[in-house]
Amino acid sequence: MAQTYDVVIVGAGPAGLMAARTLGQAGLKAALLERKKDIPKIHRSCGGVLNVNELTFNQMVTFDEDRQEIACPTLGYSIHYDGPHQDVYGFHLYSPGGKRLEFGDFAELRKDPKKNRLGVAVSKELLLRGLLDASEKSGVAVFSNTNVCGVTKTEAGAAVECDDGQSFEGRFVLAADGINSRVARVMGMNKSREFFGTTCDTSVMIEGTDCPDPDGFLFMFTPQYVLSMIPVAQKNCYHIYATTGNRQDRPPAMLKQFMFEDPIFSLWYKRSRILEHRTACVVSLWTPIEKPFQDNVIFIGDASWRREMSNVGSMCTGYKAARCIIQALNEGKPNEDGMKEYLDWYAENYFGPFGARKPRGRNFNQYLTPDDMDYLVQLPDKRLPQTMDIFKVVNLIGSTYAELMERIYDERPDTLARLMQVRENMDEDAEKQTRQGFKNI
Ligand SMILES: Cc1cc2nc3c(=O)[nH]c(=O)nc-3n(C[C@H](O)[C@H](O)[C@H](O)COP(=O)(O)OP(=O)(O)OC[C@H]3O[C@@H](n4cnc5c(N)ncnc54)[C@H](O)[C@@H]3O)c2cc1C
Repeated sequence: MAQTYDVVIVGAGPAGLMAARTLGQAGLKAALLERKKDIPKIHRSCGGVLNVNELTFNQMVTFDEDRQEIACPTLGYSIHYDGPHQDVYGFHLYSPGGKRLEFGDFAELRKDPKKNRLGVAVSKELLLRGLLDASEKSGVAVFSNTNVCGVTKTEAGAAVECDDGQSFEGRFVLAADGINSRVARVMGMNKSREFFGTTCDTSVMIEGTDCPDPDGFLFMFTPQYVLSMIPVAQKNCYHIYATTGNRQDRPPAMLKQFMFEDPIFSLWYKRSRILEHRTACVVSLWTPIEKPFQDNVIFIGDASWRREMSNVGSMCTGYKAARCIIQALNEGKPNEDGMKEYLDWYAENYFGPFGARKPRGRNFNQYLTPDDMDYLVQLPDKRLPQTMDIFKVVNLIGSTYAELMERIYDERPDTLARLMQVRENMDEDAEKQTRQGFKNI
């Protein structure tokens, strides 16, 4: 016999926990189901950086270390956070020879961190623990070590079944089970989505680096791969990621090559200490769900998205969906009509601007030589604007190099020819990545 609630939430990441806290504090009877035993413990790769002071999906989040508060003035929620943090100032890209394309002048920006940071690396474990404690205090029933395997439509709303035989029924179910959402899969939501590959990732945490300006989201092009590095909450500590969509690549070997053998980048890590914290993840890439609602199941966070929506994006969808559920139940509309405000908001801020974007291959190091990349990276005569928005980065690179085409043609026609190959093969390379993926249907 099913246990009955107003709302059943599947998954206790940033999206599910934010929804649980919001529903609990409004007095609703909510159940939070999570397959992990220790809910806040992080096993899956995540930098733990929160985007701040810049719009993320049209929402703004701020961080105030004096008040120990993460706040979202656009939606109206706040979270107490008294853990460690490091500031993050935006992107830098490095070529194989160690030349740098800068988005903002970090040395200048870090003179006023509160005003200029665009990210704060926080302890995700502490952040989740705080949300979990607040949810439990407000009466949310938390079931850890509980793996949801099925969803059915019921007269009252929807029910979920778990692989230990338990079942839970709610007037609404919130699917917050992350990027490879099982709820989306078993409900057939993936049938109308386009699949475009699988990425594998390994990351390692280090203490200390001789990288100049490490307080950013850094992408390093080696002759074979692209790796990234980002600060974590603990002072002077960083995550290094190896990510690939290519089945032949081995992320741990990529990391090893980058940190210990690469003639340029290994110099950054000569005095680093590798900490025990090691994470990994596999991500199935699908186009986003256009309407994150079916049979009283509402999708929030990565569960509806193309790849990671971000911690801030996930918390915002969790909060917004929970507020709409509260209103829907107050108004006696436990149905799609009751969730209209959430669905319109998602369409306007998430699916509308980003949903239809077709993924394209940008395999620079497959076509360009290391020397080409060194030349191109040092070509712009001024820094690009500071940002932590990856979509803006792509657009800024596109417009900057479009203006430089004539100069590249004059100075390095061979480089231009190889650059054109990147462009001409974008669709074919994207298809290759799709063919190598695991659909997990
Ligand atoms: C390499 C990497 C680095 C990243 N770095 C950053 C970063 O620095 N900053 C940032 O903002 N974002 C980052 N992200 C993205 C960020 O981690 C996600 O966007 C965010 O965690 C999504 O939150 P969520 O709650 O939607 O899903 P998740 O955090 O994935 O939570 C889903 C939860 O559901 C549970 N679950 C899954 N299936 C079931 C089931 N069947 N039954 C019960 N429970 C289930 C999972 O165990 C998990 O706890 C990164 C992602 C990757 C891959």
